[in-house]
Amino acid sequence: MQLTPPIGRAYAPRRMVPPGERWDYLIIGSGIAGLTFALEVADHGRVAVVTKDRSDESNSSYAQGGVATVWSAEDSFDAHVADTLAAGAGLCHEDVVEMVVREGPERIRELIALGTRFDSHLAGDAVEYDLGREGGHSRRRVLHAGDLTGQEIVRALTAAVRRHTNITVFENALAVDLLTDRKLGQEGGAITCWGAYIYDRTTGMVRTMTARTTVLCTGGAGKVYLYTSNPDVATGDGVAIAYRAGAPVGNMEFFQFHPTCLYHPRAKSFLITEALRGEGALLRRPDGSLFMPDYHADAELAPRDVVARAIDHEMKVHGYECVYLDITHQPATFLAERFPHILQRCRELGIDITREWIPVVPAAHYMCGGVVTDRDGQTHIGRLYAAGEVAMTGLHGANRLASNSLLEGLVFGHRAGTHARALLERDATAPPPMPQWNPGTAVNSDESVVVTQNWDEVRRTMWNFVGIVRSDRRLERARKRIAMLQEEIREYYWDFLVTGDLLELRNIATVAALIVRSALMRRESRGLHYTIDYPEPDDAWRRDTIISMSDS
Ligand SMILES: Cc1cc2nc3c(=O)[nH]c(=O)nc-3n(C[C@H](O)[C@H](O)[C@H](O)COP(=O)(O)OP(=O)(O)OC[C@H]3O[C@@H](n4cnc5c(N)ncnc54)[C@H](O)[C@@H]3O)c2cc1C
Repeated sequence: MQLTPPIGRAYAPRRMVPPGERWDYLIIGSGIAGLTFALEVADHGRVAVVTKDRSDESNSSYAQGGVATVWSAEDSFDAHVADTLAAGAGLCHEDVVEMVVREGPERIRELIALGTRFDSHLAGDAVEYDLGREGGHSRRRVLHAGDLTGQEIVRALTAAVRRHTNITVFENALAVDLLTDRKLGQEGGAITCWGAYIYDRTTGMVRTMTARTTVLCTGGAGKVYLYTSNPDVATGDGVAIAYRAGAPVGNMEFFQFHPTCLYHPRAKSFLITEALRGEGALLRRPDGSLFMPDYHADAELAPRDVVARAIDHEMKVHGYECVYLDITHQPATFLAERFPHILQRCRELGIDITREWIPVVPAAHYMCGGVVTDRDGQTHIGRLYAAGEVAMTGLHGANRLASNSLLEGLVFGHRAGTHARALLERDATAPPPMPQWNPGTAVNSDESVVVTQNWDEVRRTMWNFVGIVRSDRRLERARKRIAMLQEEIREYYWDFLVTGDLLELRNIATVAALIVRSALMRRESRGLHYTIDYPEPDDAWRRDTIISMSDS
């Protein structure tokens, strides 16, 4: 879906972007966080949304299970807060959790008002929304649209964005680096952001897009690992870009592995939602025996890191290629209604989930760490915000509670938008003229194989040495290899004209290095970070792991 002409046609190459083409708000990414931010600010200025693929290609679009919020009389804010804190293993920022949980229902009502169709039924004359229950949740509180919740939310948000004349969406437009006052030779003191360099994938040109405020909504980084539930766009660009510009990033060692991705040679990144276990699906060894009761009192409903580690352990100890998820106890009619997408996709691959077990393996799924922000999504760089999966807000701590991330995108997209709007209302400063992108003496590469090879090496190294179970030796091995690859990528980056693949490779290598560094720093096991060298939590480490360029 092409919403507007690609950026190359909107921007003829010039030395400086003239005043008329400056934006009030530059939004990088078109998932739930970016679209929410866009709608929040659109009545108050000119808004550009740049997104590196089609506008609906994002983690948000693939979310299946749903969005968690306190919705029924049997639930309470306290219960949702308690469940989130329990998952976060001592590292959640309690004030942030409280804020997100309390603001959730209002944001969901806005989504419904925009036209999002969550599953519901009539109770007398009243519409009642169907609420799912997922691992780690003590109540039913997950609103969903079949098993295509993200797609439905993105559909409604995108339609609203398209209707708004102040918003222009640029597809195939990949943010390369931020335009900060450092680009003007300013040294020391606070850093201010004035937009970004944007690579136009259709023309191969890099444009200078200046803006009075910029927000990173670039989502996660599943592609840092060999196996992931994330789509190809999830290369951690926002984290790498912010880090290079001088913003601190935090808690990068906490990467969530989804326990159950479909294991099939023809299925790339297909997730089997946790909601299946919420509806009673059981995990079985190939011989049919159950193993989750050996690992946790809540068995299949244990937090997902426990389930992922249990599966990883079963596979490594017994040499299984996969384990199995069994939902055959549910009637076929229920499965067709509740999980139509999974039913259909599995059927296409020859698996009838109403009668057969589903082969599953864990895969990299969610980045709990990210660019450090405050309660309004402000980063440590002036006029730069971050919202959604790219940010570390304090909501998730050491582990994300299922279905809290769409909620985070909504709440922080809204909060950051509100804050940015207020900032521009009281401060009319225009961006200073910024230099054009300078390719220097770079030439076209005739060795793209270097990029492909390094992509594979980074992802394989991360999978083998920085996966679900870690050790100092493996991390150290990964650190050395990634550092070497980064050096090679750096040389390649300066010698050859940039391409989308090269820019993404540079970013996944940076994110990989940040994950390894954070994991080496944390000498304990907590939440999603498990190391055999320090297998227990240690109270001395009950703090965030923060890294910034200035201390590297
Ligand atoms: C398969 C799957 C199932 C999930 N299920 C659930 C669920 O049921 N409930 C839940 O709460 N969460 C779920 N999640 C997690 C949730 O979907 C994400 O955390 C959330 O959608 C992130 O939203 P976002 O707006 O931050 O980022 P995204 O939705 O990932 O959007 C990021 C956007 O940024 C763009 N982008 C990235 N880099 C650049 C760049 N350099 N330049 C320009 N654009 C860029 C991307 O193209 C994309 O448009 C799931 C995730 C996956 C992958």
